[in-house]
Amino acid sequence: MTKTIYNTTILPGENKVIKLPIGSLPTGTPIKIPVYVFNGKEDGPTVLLQGGLHGDEINGVETCKRMLVNEYFTNVKKGCVIVIPLLNVYGFIHFSRDLPDGKDVNRSFPGSKSGSLAGRIAYYHTHEILPHVDFGIDFHTGGAMRSNYPQIRYTPNCSESNKLAKVFNAPIQFESNLIKKSFRAIAEKQGIPILIYEGGESMRFDELSINEGIRGALRVLAKYGIIDTHSLATKNKNKTIYLTDRKWLRARKGGIFTSNINNGEGIEKDQVLGYITDAYGNRSTVVKAPFDGYVFCINNHPLVNQGDALFHIGVRT
Ligand SMILES: [Zn+2]
Repeated sequence: MTKTIYNTTILPGENKVIKLPIGSLPTGTPIKIPVYVFNGKEDGPTVLLQGGLHGDEINGVETCKRMLVNEYFTNVKKGCVIVIPLLNVYGFIHFSRDLPDGKDVNRSFPGSKSGSLAGRIAYYHTHEILPHVDFGIDFHTGGAMRSNYPQIRYTPNCSESNKLAKVFNAPIQFESNLIKKSFRAIAEKQGIPILIYEGGESMRFDELSINEGIRGALRVLAKYGIIDTHSLATKNKNKTIYLTDRKWLRARKGGIFTSNINNGEGIEKDQVLGYITDAYGNRSTVVKAPFDGYVFCINNHPLVNQGDALFHIGVRT
């Protein structure tokens, strides 16, 4: 199907890169967001693959980049693939989740053409990209040094996103409520289901997360006949673990935190998960599992303050 994005026409069978002019740096350097469009010859669903909504979450940027470099979409069979490897260019060049003014693009949808930088990015996305999209996958990582084990978050009471999550086949998945003014909330409001993929932590590559992200995306695209089945899109040997009753385990005391377990591991009630000590070895606080479950996020920052998140854990359904 012919598409028009920012005054550019993309005919069936055509691939084009469109650059959305978001604004400029204080130096006057223009800032544009490249949008890669791979339009199939036959009609079919249009899927959005997107990274870097948070500028420092570079695993998502790398995931999209590798899919482009490996030319997975140059011969789209039907439908269309839209790839935005890096949405928040400003955050990316500032090594930051947010914009220079502290605003979060993912809390600025649907945006405003004359608003803050975050609002402008959201505006162009909402008006130029979203109207074309049938469903999407938004690639994220844990914030700061909190590392997420590869996981899919999908919208409660949305059978289509539940179905997409199953096809994606991430190691871990769970329902996650919509956040007001987030990209996913605005998309879902328009009937566009969005999967949130989370893998690794900000400003650090994690090969497992990047690879699981690519494999999941290819599974989804192959399932809908958008691309041919790919050797990377085979099912995961271990079945997806479905989690419920998630809980952050927080530091009862501040100090130096060491974890005893690996991300993604199953844990038993009262198992020792880690320790918080002082800098001299005089004091040690044990961190124990409050229930049987799975760890799907670990704080990799060795220094923690009282109340800081240490582990995110969930119960298997
Ligand atoms: Zn994020």
